[in-house]
Amino acid sequence: MNILTPNSPTAELQALDAAHHMHPFTHGAALREKGARIITRAEGVWLNDSDGNRILDAMAGLWCVNVGYGREELAEAAARQMRELPFYNTFFQTSHVPAINLAARLAELAPDDLNHVFFANSGSEANDTNLRMVRAYWHVKGQPERTHIIARWNGYHGSGVGSGSMGGMKSIHSQGGLPIPGIHHIDQPHWYLEGGQMTPEEFGLARAQQLEEKILEIGADKVAAFIAEPLQGAGGVIVPPATYWPEIQRIVDKYGILLIADEVITGFGRTGQWFGCQTMDVRPDIMTVAKGLSSGYQPIGASIVSDEVARVIDGVEFNHGYTYSGHPVACAVALENLRLLDEEGIVDRARTHVAPYLKQRFESLADHPLVGEVKIIGLMGSLALTPDKPSRASFAAEAGTAGLITRERCFANNLIMRHVYDRMIISPPLVISHEEIDTLVERARLSLDEAHAELIQRGLMQAIPNC
Ligand SMILES: *Cc1c(COP(=O)(O)O)cnc(C)c1O
Repeated sequence: MNILTPNSPTAELQALDAAHHMHPFTHGAALREKGARIITRAEGVWLNDSDGNRILDAMAGLWCVNVGYGREELAEAAARQMRELPFYNTFFQTSHVPAINLAARLAELAPDDLNHVFFANSGSEANDTNLRMVRAYWHVKGQPERTHIIARWNGYHGSGVGSGSMGGMKSIHSQGGLPIPGIHHIDQPHWYLEGGQMTPEEFGLARAQQLEEKILEIGADKVAAFIAEPLQGAGGVIVPPATYWPEIQRIVDKYGILLIADEVITGFGRTGQWFGCQTMDVRPDIMTVAKGLSSGYQPIGASIVSDEVARVIDGVEFNHGYTYSGHPVACAVALENLRLLDEEGIVDRARTHVAPYLKQRFESLADHPLVGEVKIIGLMGSLALTPDKPSRASFAAEAGTAGLITRERCFANNLIMRHVYDRMIISPPLVISHEEIDTLVERARLSLDEAHAELIQRGLMQAIPNC
């Protein structure tokens, strides 16, 4: 077989990709027509593709490359660990140094009494662990009927059977008969789209109170846990109104329900603090982490659980785990990544130096005729596209049409900014410089201008009012 290299012609790479590689969350036939963009190298916040373009990656890969691309230290940590001990399991009363160190370091970094770590290889897997763990927890505590999980529409927790069920993505549920039984969804705190005439504060409270209504509907003694992202990522970087989380905390405390904070995106500096629950001031019993844990250099995820949850689970043999739970190479790389984030002050600088500048520059896009609102917390931001700013209107065209057009303009201008329906989102590496932020915002504005012109020209600026 002919092995291709990063220097092989793009057409050849695309043809072989189309012939054998099935892509996640992708319409295969449409991609085959078009050919995949082939990324070959990366450094800092910059990607190179096989056509020689240099692209500013405002998504940090897939929300994960917090320390930026090209860190030798992480490559070294992987090579060192592979030579010393490439693999051993942690199942049968065995352990190894990288898993020990990483678990201890995570316990140190995580807030309050979140001191115990169960490893997985991804966010989806860690959330499947959480689903099983909270059910096991109540079973051990003598309340086996507490199995129901409450989650949110338009939340994202992964795409496995359990994690995809807890997520509230109808596109995922529509394929394969999800959600599984025992998973319930309440509405999201997305004021811009769903807030109607309410103030954001009233709306935040109303959406949080749906949790209490749902608990009472199911029966308080049957609910195991509520799972949510501190702020929704894949749902479109939705920042909840200030009234939302305090009310959620009040409700889970009142009914003694476990709170799972899915920190897969919001962990490790993304919101300017180590964890999103610190930014949002909530106290979870379990945190899901992945993505920024290794800055994407190795696949690894984890559940970080409270003293109380660990004490109960440790009272039985928990019949769960993955061959690669606590994989030594992934743990060694994650540990080194956490050292960089801490010792180089990357998380602190993200809060004090990068986030304020990014906020100021990104919010300057609010005056664009296509932009209905700009939201940003730390290094996670989003823009609502609208055909009519005052009414927060949606486009009459199928949701996502304007977003896709804008994303394509961004691509053409060598900027990676994603769209979720008609919301544009950014989540750049935490190490992005002020100059690179300027470039990001300039390219975003140019792309918005071009998208606006295209929408007008194609007659796609018709509105459906939201309120
Ligand atoms: C990405 C993501 C996941 C899933 O993680 P994978 O590593 O893709 O399985 C879970 N939760 C949140 C909040 C995510 O953003």
